[in-house]
Amino acid sequence: MMTTLQPNPSSQRPRLPQWLRNRLPTSDSFSSTRALLDELKLHTVCQSARCPNHWECWSKGTATFMIGGDRCTRACGFCAVTTAKPLALEADEPERVAEAARRLGLRHVVITAVARDDLADGGAEHFRRTIDAVRALNPGIVIEVLTPDFNDRDSSLDTVLSAHPHIFNHNLETVRRLTPAVRSRATYDRSLSVLRKAKARSGNTIYTKSGLMLGLGEREEEVLAALSDLRAAGCDLLTLGQYLQPTLKHLPVVEFVSPSKFGAYGERARGLGFVHVASGPRVRSSYHADEFKLELPS
Ligand code: SF4
Repeated sequence: MMTTLQPNPSSQRPRLPQWLRNRLPTSDSFSSTRALLDELKLHTVCQSARCPNHWECWSKGTATFMIGGDRCTRACGFCAVTTAKPLALEADEPERVAEAARRLGLRHVVITAVARDDLADGGAEHFRRTIDAVRALNPGIVIEVLTPDFNDRDSSLDTVLSAHPHIFNHNLETVRRLTPAVRSRATYDRSLSVLRKAKARSGNTIYTKSGLMLGLGEREEEVLAALSDLRAAGCDLLTLGQYLQPTLKHLPVVEFVSPSKFGAYGERARGLGFVHVASGPRVRSSYHADEFKLELPS
């Protein structure tokens, strides 16, 4: 039976296949990471998006910081971040992120944000200030940003890129056909445009990165078309992971894609020329992000 991309509050979530069952935390680092984030009053996408890997990542002392508050102006059908009128930006948040990165001893930091469509620059200047603060307090750290689309505003993109992140990540999320049902306001072509511009403006001084969730009902040829579109936009790095329904109000999982199928997609992506590909059921945008070895000027 074909499942449609409509939330169905009365249905049960399907039982997870064995390969997606959670592993328990393995060290005291989990609670100390949580205590640190609480003390510095920071949001992480790990918690806000109910990421299934946050036990593992926090146990390793890594976290993906979410700046600009925990209220998003958009309402994507897959995302557990709260949709509400955002609060004002906190001027000292960049320094608090920098301090958290220092105390966690991070070698690679991932900074993301909710979509701040209420701000004239979409929150780009806040990204720039955070990158600067993290670099100032953590010399040599690799900085990856995972940004919203800024409504494809060139000035916002230039503001973020002016801080010279090493990796500019913007997720395509899903294939072209499913985008209107899965994403809120974002469009497939706009996301490709953001990635294309980021590469064109920064050239070989930056890696661009994107990712898709699989299991939303996409067909193989649609996935391969999306990978080709990303490569045509100059995208260097790719993540492919299994979509999981965060609550019954969110889009249902249409399919649990097998690990071997993820492996096959990964091979196809490498064949298309992506520099680095992470493809597997548990992969998320920043899962094991620090394992990729950069070859860029520091
Ligand atoms: S833009 Fe969509 S995916 Fe990003 S935080 Fe907001 S609701 Fe979630």
